[in-house]
Amino acid sequence: REHLTLQIAITIYGENERLLWVRDISRLRQLEQMRKDFVSNASHELRTPLTVLQGYLETFIDMGDVLPERMHRPLQQMQAQTRRMTNLVNDLMLLTRLDGDDDRRGDMQVYVRQLLESIVEDAQALSGDKHHQIELNIETEADLMGDPNSLRSAFSNLVFNAVHYTPENGQIIVSWRQDERFAYMSVEDSGIGIEARHIPRLTERFYRVNVSHSTATGGTGLGLAIVKHALQIHDGTLDISSEVGKGSTFTCRFPVKNLYQQQEEQLAEE
Ligand code: ADP
Repeated sequence: REHLTLQIAITIYGENERLLWVRDISRLRQLEQMRKDFVSNASHELRTPLTVLQGYLETFIDMGDVLPERMHRPLQQMQAQTRRMTNLVNDLMLLTRLDGDDDRRGDMQVYVRQLLESIVEDAQALSGDKHHQIELNIETEADLMGDPNSLRSAFSNLVFNAVHYTPENGQIIVSWRQDERFAYMSVEDSGIGIEARHIPRLTERFYRVNVSHSTATGGTGLGLAIVKHALQIHDGTLDISSEVGKGSTFTCRFPVKNLYQQQEEQLAEE
């Protein structure tokens, strides 16, 4: 075989006995890779036909008055569904990219203040008639080191979820702070909340608490899986706390060694 992957474990029994386990997991790895390649190729192939469909639908919708009245609604529905499918395909592609075996982190400076400001601006637009009060608290000027695109996806998924799952006039607080060991990006909302039993499963692909609500908001069920993987490649973790009817808080925690400033200072000290 080209690549042999072995899993080795040692079990210790009492004082003198040791059991060494060696398992050949090459086939398992190979199957896993085939699954990833399939999802990646399939979503890539779906993109072109979707773009064509979307383009024609927009043209039809723009024609407006020329078309008979009874065609307006079906066309709009077709456009909404094509958009949903495009979101799904994009999310699947992003997820397979993040789930790759290589180190995808990169070492670019990610300007957290700018990033969060632009996400909050988009969130205000998304909130629209729901008139949420969205607050941004930046308590540290520290920046992250890593991949700006995947961090943007992670943070925007959390903020947009807060908008989707918070009723009218609710409050959303986005913050960025740090202590000696960690930096925290958190999103707190006064939304519908999540029952405790769902929380451990939220980052699974396609796991949703309420499918109809999530579909109505245009969700793909992949958002939190993307967040999890994007954080993982930055050595980050996601903590979720929530109370039904009161709201939820999603906190991303990054070790200080992943901060850009600290990294520079450390290098200077060495
Ligand atoms: P979706 O695209 O369905 O929003 P996500 O992976 O982003 O998928 O989230 C998974 C599920 O977690 C959602 O369907 C929703 O039930 C729940 N959820 C996520 N964020 C929130 C939130 N801020 N408040 C309440 N429920 C949430």
